[in-house]
Amino acid sequence: MSKIKENILNLDKNYLWHPFTPIKDSAPILISNAKNEILKDIDGNEYIDLISSWWVNIHGHCNEHINNRINLQINKLEQVLFAGFTHSPAVNLAKELTSLLPDNMNRVFYSDNGSTSVEIALKTAIQFWHNKGEKKKRFVAFRGGYHGDTFGAMSVGYTSGYYEPFKDFLVETDFISFPEFWKGNNEVEKNESYALSQISEILEKKTDEIAAVIIEPLIQGAGGMRICRKEFLEKVVLKFQSAGVIVIFDEVMTGFGRTGKMFACDHTINAKPDIICLAKSITGGYLPLAATIFSDFIYKEFITSDVKKSLLHGHTYTANPIACEAALGSIELFKINNSLTRISELEKIHKKCLNEVESNLDVSKVRILGSIAAFDVNKIDKSYGSVESNKLKTKFLENGLLLRPIGNTIYLMPPYCISKEKLIQSYEKIIEILK
Ligand code: PMP
Repeated sequence: MSKIKENILNLDKNYLWHPFTPIKDSAPILISNAKNEILKDIDGNEYIDLISSWWVNIHGHCNEHINNRINLQINKLEQVLFAGFTHSPAVNLAKELTSLLPDNMNRVFYSDNGSTSVEIALKTAIQFWHNKGEKKKRFVAFRGGYHGDTFGAMSVGYTSGYYEPFKDFLVETDFISFPEFWKGNNEVEKNESYALSQISEILEKKTDEIAAVIIEPLIQGAGGMRICRKEFLEKVVLKFQSAGVIVIFDEVMTGFGRTGKMFACDHTINAKPDIICLAKSITGGYLPLAATIFSDFIYKEFITSDVKKSLLHGHTYTANPIACEAALGSIELFKINNSLTRISELEKIHKKCLNEVESNLDVSKVRILGSIAAFDVNKIDKSYGSVESNKLKTKFLENGLLLRPIGNTIYLMPPYCISKEKLIQSYEKIIEILK
């Protein structure tokens, strides 16, 4: 091991605490640079970033277009508080986002990560009712959903299984079963009917107490890449909205092309949410930024000079100008690179390669949605962070593949710039390793 590497890894061991990592197992790889879909470690080993570094680097790493926008902005304005001040990157981005989102989505509140974007959606829903003189203190969410690690987000994501120690500190939430869909699942309609009947039951008993329902539209991410049908999602939205419940789409993962359209809500033609949460890939994976976008009727309840009726919430780095410029650059790249067409090409490659996976391995629940592909490996431990799951992760890395299985689910969510050859090669290696 080189002296530099040894030194940095020792410092890491002595001073750092890594996320979602049992401390005794912490053995981070020292990355020195990256380009497009490739990460390089200090020894020159390459890793294909098949999960876009936690789902963010949609255009790949170190993209020249985004680099240039950031460089220009750094020399103009790096940061200013966003209470009482504004700037063109924030304004231009809000205009761009609202023009891309459904017509009713007109008001943007910035923050800096997915959890805060969800927290703001939940808090605003509660205060919306409070401002109207109503007290609603419950949420509805879906089993297995994940919405982030802050307290509100943990409350609505409790059934993801990550938050046991905090059980007694969470907001009351009713959970509906999530009717998973995959090729060959003949039970889906029955499961959808069951979920819809659960919703009816909850609405019958508790409508007056429910502030909002939150959904990861079309696909639950950290819960295991579980997909539901858009027809089901539309029914859910309409059912809640007709009972007067605010509908929140958590598009932190699904936003910006992941599902094959710019946003997952573009799939649901007949039903649109009232609030949308965006983060992760909003800046193309460059800087922390999030946006919670609101429908007019919610914003209207906050138009006042009364400080008590205002949303007294804000983060220091709200609407950081450099992050907003990165986001504008990332959105421009959709046009420059024809990203949505590229995503449909990726979907086709996924399909072909998953056929190979199915015919060579003992797997089930093969599924694809836009640039996301997943399958479950039979006969290995399903639990999150299991020994077998960790072993696989290590084996993938040893073979130059950055993949993080969720229990027995293997998923790929590559940057849109990944070459056909690299993606096919990755699948070949995955099959070889799993064999
Ligand atoms: N919502 C969803 C759907 C997510 O996938 C995540 C992160 N995996 C979050 C919220 C939380 O985002 P962050 O990690 O940026 O707080």
